[in-house]
Amino acid sequence: MSTDRTFVKVEDASCWFDVSPPWLERVVKRRPRVQLKAVNGVSFSLVKGETLALVGESGCGKSTVARMLVGLYEPTSGNIEFDGQPISMLRSREGQKLRQRLQMIFQDPYASLNPRWRVARIIAEPLKVHGKLNQAERDARVDELLEQVGLSPSDRNRYPHQFSGGQRQRISIARALAARPEFLVCDEPTSALDVSVQAQVLNLMKQLQRELSLTYLFISHNLAVVHHVADRVAVMYLGKIVELASRDELFERPRHPYTRMLLSAIPDTSGTGKRRIPVAGEVPNPLNPPQGCPFHPRCPYARDICREHMPATLPDGPTHVACHGIEQGFARE
Ligand code: SF4
Repeated sequence: MSTDRTFVKVEDASCWFDVSPPWLERVVKRRPRVQLKAVNGVSFSLVKGETLALVGESGCGKSTVARMLVGLYEPTSGNIEFDGQPISMLRSREGQKLRQRLQMIFQDPYASLNPRWRVARIIAEPLKVHGKLNQAERDARVDELLEQVGLSPSDRNRYPHQFSGGQRQRISIARALAARPEFLVCDEPTSALDVSVQAQVLNLMKQLQRELSLTYLFISHNLAVVHHVADRVAVMYLGKIVELASRDELFERPRHPYTRMLLSAIPDTSGTGKRRIPVAGEVPNPLNPPQGCPFHPRCPYARDICREHMPATLPDGPTHVACHGIEQGFARE
């Protein structure tokens, strides 16, 4: 799934956390070690200038993928490269240039902005860390960034609490753009905002992408938002990517029963009368995932093969999908 133009490459990456009880309790109660496989062998790539959305219910591992990509979590195994360089460089002294080229926008602009700092200081912070600009140059850059995100240079001396939720997310975006990054990992950037404000922030992000040739990994549980911003979509379930396709292919011809279930939750205004898979069941406990296909306890098509063997990710037309039922034809619409 990678090409010569690949900008970001994730190959078979996993991120496991040891959540075992303390040693003494394990010995006394004869409990084994417990691993939480938050991300378990995901592969995808991005080309420059595109938006790949990672979609799934809460707890599916999408935020862990985001954090691995910006170096906040170290992959347990697998390979992640940014513009041909291993992401592990981020943790080295030589990694500063690389760190500057990728940034993250967090879900909650309320929590991610220091309430005691004025906006100018918040936005200028990455410039101090990464750059060699003097005070006057930093001031000019802050004003430029405020205008770029639809705020005014006169806002520079205000505090975060003096802004609305949408404006605060604009400040977060300005801060993320300060060091002129090329790749932005956006973790549910609009889900804390009112619906009416969401569209404005998403449109701003699309406009900035065009103007600054940005590449986005966009994390969301909201398919309407994903449809608005994504070029391609990867659907995650219990730490794995179960379907990866272009946005139009995924929304028009979803293959995986889980993708179809997620899409069923969106009201159908097309009048096509397509068969729908009702949203049913809960995501299993990731500490004790089901054997075989992780979706089998919720899947109306599940057969013995699904309960016993993990499906491989295989091409199906222009889509990549991990489902025995699609491979063998018993879960097609
Ligand atoms: Fe359903 Fe089987 Fe496909 Fe899993 S592999 S999604 S259980 S049909």
